[in-house]
Formats: sequence, C-alpha cells, structure tokens
Amino acid sequence: MTTVFGKIIRRELPAEILFENERFIAIKDIAPKAKVHLLIIPKKEIASLQDMGEGDFPLLAEAAQIATKLAKEFGVESGYRFLTNVGEGAGQTVFHLHFHLIGGNPLGDMA
Ligand code: AMP
Repeated sequence: MTTVFGKIIRRELPAEILFENERFIAIKDIAPKAKVHLLIIPKKEIASLQDMGEGDFPLLAEAAQIATKLAKEFGVESGYRFLTNVGEGAGQTVFHLHFHLIGGNPLGDMA
C-alpha cells in the first residue's frame, strides 16, 4: 500500500530531497527531532524491516552507506543515531521502510 513516502518518491508530494539514486531517496524529516533529522527511504514499497524479503537485505547495507555519506555532508559524523522503527509498538507511523539519521545535538538514551 502506498504511503506519503511513495507519493514523495513519485513527486506527487513535495519534499526536500538530499540524495537520490535508482533504489533510494533521502529527504529532510518534516518534523525534525534534532538539528539534523534525515530520512533514508528505499524506493521499494516494503512496509517495515520485518517485511523485508530475502532479496531485500542488500538495501540495508546501501542505506548504511548513504547514512555515512549524509552524516559527513551534514557535519554530524562524530555523533548521530541511525535507526528504523518497526511496527506501531516502536512508534512507526509511516508503513514504508525508512531509516532515520538523527544528530546535531546531544541525544538522550532513546530516539
Ligand atoms: P516513523 O515514526 O519511524 O514511521 O517515522 C516517520 C517520520 O516521517 C516522522 O519522523 C515524520 O515526521 C516523517 N514524515 C511524515 N510525513 C513526512 C513528509 N511529508 N515529509 C517528510 N517527513 C515526513
């Protein structure tokens, strides 16, 4: 099922796009929880980490690679959080797999 991120990927909704290739788009979070709060989003519509198929796992490595590049670009490479919320119990609100890159100020124990 398509979500707000599917619409951003298809340019049906605006977003501040920071990076894009065939498989990913990275945007600024609309409601940042820190000075730097970016979202790294695989274009494939996978609901969450728990819904990844066997062939999808290389996307994790690529997401991490994009995160390290963006962390450098945004000057937070010495301290940031890279995470994905899985399911409502973890606070997931958009059911299209995405990775948060959060940094730029001291972060508490939890994201
Ligand atoms: P999660 O709670 O892990 O599902 O994260 C969803 C994130 O998407 C939240 O941090 C929202 O602020 C963010 N978000 C929702 N809609 C948009 C949008 N249109 N553009 C950018 N970020 C969004």
